[in-house]
Amino acid sequence: MSFLLWLLLPVAAASGWLVAQHQKRRKPISSHLSPDYLKGLNYWLREEPDKAIDIFIKLIDVNNETFETHLALGVLFRRRGEVNQAIHIHQNIIKIPTLDPQKRNLALFELAHDYQNAGLFDRAEDVFKNLLIVENYQIPALSQLLKIYEQEQEWEKAIKVAQKLAKLSGKKMPIAQYYCEQAENYREQGNTNRVQQLIQKALDTDPFCVRASIIEASLALENNDYRQAIVAFKRVEKQDHKYIIEIIDDLHDCYHAIGQIDQFQVYLQAILNRYDEITPILSFVKIIQQQLGRQQAIDFVSKQMLERPSLCSINSFLALSKADNTLLHNTITQLLNNKAFYKCNNCGFTARKLYWHCPSCKKWNTMKSIQGIDGD
Ligand SMILES: [Zn+2]
Repeated sequence: MSFLLWLLLPVAAASGWLVAQHQKRRKPISSHLSPDYLKGLNYWLREEPDKAIDIFIKLIDVNNETFETHLALGVLFRRRGEVNQAIHIHQNIIKIPTLDPQKRNLALFELAHDYQNAGLFDRAEDVFKNLLIVENYQIPALSQLLKIYEQEQEWEKAIKVAQKLAKLSGKKMPIAQYYCEQAENYREQGNTNRVQQLIQKALDTDPFCVRASIIEASLALENNDYRQAIVAFKRVEKQDHKYIIEIIDDLHDCYHAIGQIDQFQVYLQAILNRYDEITPILSFVKIIQQQLGRQQAIDFVSKQMLERPSLCSINSFLALSKADNTLLHNTITQLLNNKAFYKCNNCGFTARKLYWHCPSCKKWNTMKSIQGIDGD
């Protein structure tokens, strides 16, 4: 599409100029082309497209007929990263007093995009907000506003916009994650009451919000409220058992602190019976070995090696094995040190730490621990 636009630009400029000349003179179109057009074409042939475009744009009057060309050119400039040119073109369009209102709204929407890409968030926000009164633009403008608020980490505004979007589109929005973001901020400030309120809001909005449970449990752990921490940590299993690995060490510490390690052993055994796809990371296997015995740990790792062969399961097996394989064990440990543990289900971004908001595609809650030979 972009390539076609580039190709058609001189043609559009020529036809626009000829139509303009015709309208001005009200007499037959001259067969002579403007010197400016020839100059532009010359730049084009010399592969100086920026200079050529400047001339061609001046040649085509912005009106209802040439609107699409100008709009598309602006978008093209923005995609090339030349946002100032894009802003200039789209601002030119909305200046036309006779422009059809629907076309004007379309140009405004693109202009707001330009501002957003240029980092002029206040201006982008104003334009998107103004478009909210136009029914067709409610969902697209709210979606863009949400992106701005996420980028600016304005969680209160993000929550309000996401609530409206959820109502209008019927889609699930990551509102619970925004409450968690706020909770993390208040936690840093030491405002425990506010953190607890926000965690509750997150869970009311999304009872399956693992992150809210982990924040709640970690806060309780900080305050030595081990029983409360156990309740919150164990909730993670019901919300999404793939995150058990994130909490098992801390849960072990909580049971240890209240002197009920036997209950932890019962829970650990139940977890192993219930789920097959738990990542056999070394710390987890170590806990199984300590709490349930070496044979249980070997059984667990052997099963994982057969069902989902991975460096992690092989390494865990070597750690448990009595044979002298230190060199192999250390080599695999080194290999694992350079490997990502988490992968975004949406875009494939990998990382060694868990991100609730994918740094690449900006989706929420899409990163999960990697299973199988390529990952853990
Ligand atoms: Zn992603």
